[in-house]
Amino acid sequence: MADCDDSFDIIVAGAGPVGLSFAATLAKSDLKVAVVEQQTLEALANPPFDGREIALTYASIRILRELGAWDAISACHKSPLHGARVLNGSSPFALCFDPPRGSAEPLGYLVPNCRIRDALFKIVRLNDRAQLLCGHSVVGVTNSHKGVVIELSDGRRLGARLLVAADSRLSRTRDLLGIAADINRLGSSMLICRVRHERAHHQVAIEWFDHHQTIAMLPLMEGVSSLLLTLRANEANRLLAFEDDLFLMELTDRCRKRLGKMTLASTRHAYPLVTTWAHRFWAPSAALIGDAAIGMHPVTAHGFNIGLSGQNRLARRILTAHRDCRDIADPELLRRYEGCLRLSAAPLYHATNLIVGLYSGEHAAARLARHVGLRFAQHFPFVRYGISAMLRR
Ligand SMILES: Cc1cc2nc3c(=O)[nH]c(=O)nc-3n(C[C@H](O)[C@H](O)[C@H](O)COP(=O)(O)OP(=O)(O)OC[C@H]3O[C@@H](n4cnc5c(N)ncnc54)[C@H](O)[C@@H]3O)c2cc1C
Repeated sequence: MADCDDSFDIIVAGAGPVGLSFAATLAKSDLKVAVVEQQTLEALANPPFDGREIALTYASIRILRELGAWDAISACHKSPLHGARVLNGSSPFALCFDPPRGSAEPLGYLVPNCRIRDALFKIVRLNDRAQLLCGHSVVGVTNSHKGVVIELSDGRRLGARLLVAADSRLSRTRDLLGIAADINRLGSSMLICRVRHERAHHQVAIEWFDHHQTIAMLPLMEGVSSLLLTLRANEANRLLAFEDDLFLMELTDRCRKRLGKMTLASTRHAYPLVTTWAHRFWAPSAALIGDAAIGMHPVTAHGFNIGLSGQNRLARRILTAHRDCRDIADPELLRRYEGCLRLSAAPLYHATNLIVGLYSGEHAAARLARHVGLRFAQHFPFVRYGISAMLRR
């Protein structure tokens, strides 16, 4: 690393919510950490509303609380989720997920992604342990079991014992490390916006698998919900181009007035849907976290939850190794991290993809299968309680 401009113990590529959580967890040590982010420092310090309302499980809230981020988010941005209903087409039947009888505790909380990013960024800045290198991206990587050298877009070369990629589901760093991934472009997009509406939502979310579209209504503050409309990509683009009035008319029509009269309460956002699964979560002197490792379909609202717990597992192993004066990039440490993450995330990843396949099919067999599936889950409480318990774990 003699010809490097600077050297670190750990370089994190990407200051998204997972990369920032990782840097915040490592701040408990004297490890020299750098976070490389392509956005400017100003953009990171003022993350704009991006439409995403993240459904956080209790496990995630615990991790965010330990980092100090949960308490840094104001209560007005935390919307409790007291139940969820899953609907199929025009059938009046609903599969219900509720907290256990007698419990007043919500299933989880919805928090805007920009508020989570903002809180984590403030924690990293406040700790002042990680060096933030903003406005640059990682454009080159040379790694071996001895260490890693990265090249930034401004030509600088930085050395480290460990490189951790947290640069989104289409991670460039993952490609530069030569790690293959299953990348599934679904050809559909999720359109998101907040709406103010007439009917009360009672803090209950609705996931409605209708013909040629899926609509999720996520309850936020009183009289306000986040609407997520999944459509073929070309159809989503057509709607996105509409003037506000026309867009609202189309939304109201598609929601079949379930929420009553609606008005727009935010900007609109569209996300082309892509799922990814990296073939390996580590390479010599490198590891993948967050969406760079596993990019979940948003329908089961678990991408960040998995990413947060994954970074926590890796950071804990690194902190223990560092405390015991062991190698923080030991292949055995990285292999164990991969094994744990694979084991905990694979069932949810594959179950989510199965649900997406089943609920986006329009042929008669798929419609029948989802009808039977919902009835089955309703009559076998262990399925419903299992899912509710998983959220509350
Ligand atoms: C519509 C939608 C709804 C969702 N809802 C939920 C939910 O309810 N619950 C849940 O748990 N999850 C949800 N998710 C998933 C969640 O948003 C992601 O899992 C989470 O954002 C992943 O965080 P990350 O830090 O790994 O990656 P990102 O958020 O993608 O951040 C990556 C960062 O890396 C930076 N970057 C990219 N390339 C480079 C480079 N070459 N060099 C330097 N920096 C780079 C980017 O600028 C960015 O800041 C949802 C996702 C979507 C799309």
